Amino acid sequence: PGCFYIEGDNMKICIDPGHGGRDPGAVSGNVKEKDVNLAIAQKLQLKLHNKGYIVKMTREKDEDVSLYQRANTANNFKADIFISVHNNAFNNEITQGTEVLYFSGSLQGEKLACLVQIELVKRLKRPDRGIKSRSDLVVLRYTTMPAILVECAFLTNPVERKLLKTNSFQLLAAEGIAEGIDRYFREVE
Ligand code: ZN
Repeated sequence: PGCFYIEGDNMKICIDPGHGGRDPGAVSGNVKEKDVNLAIAQKLQLKLHNKGYIVKMTREKDEDVSLYQRANTANNFKADIFISVHNNAFNNEITQGTEVLYFSGSLQGEKLACLVQIELVKRLKRPDRGIKSRSDLVVLRYTTMPAILVECAFLTNPVERKLLKTNSFQLLAAEGIAEGIDRYFREVE
């Protein structure tokens, strides 16, 4: 008894599509991270909106937005959680898989990261690189709510780069993140 929480009801989510404008993020083959991030973020926006969440994007198109602006957008919006959408890169093409970062010492951030990681790996079926705490990332450090940074897959890995370009993989990523968010609000006290 006493659990009256309705999925998405009144909860505010800030989605941050990583990079943009003059900052492409990782570039591999003919793929720019900023474009993949935005494509996944827009699919996530639609999914969350349809579930009844109130969603704010830190950027809607290919534009320059500073890291501090992104954190400010989330703080001014009074978001309940902050989700930064990224994809990874490394100096060899073998490295692959999914990971989620959270701000060091944030228990709610860690819980959110954990649930999103589980739901992402379940759908994307890429290697599970686990969750990692970081204290140096501006968007995690200067946001005042539980915040995570999702690294869906590696643009430098040929298999994952190919997948990241597809609508279906982008949709699975959005679905995994959205399900992790649902679980977080269901399971968090
Ligand atoms: Zn990035």
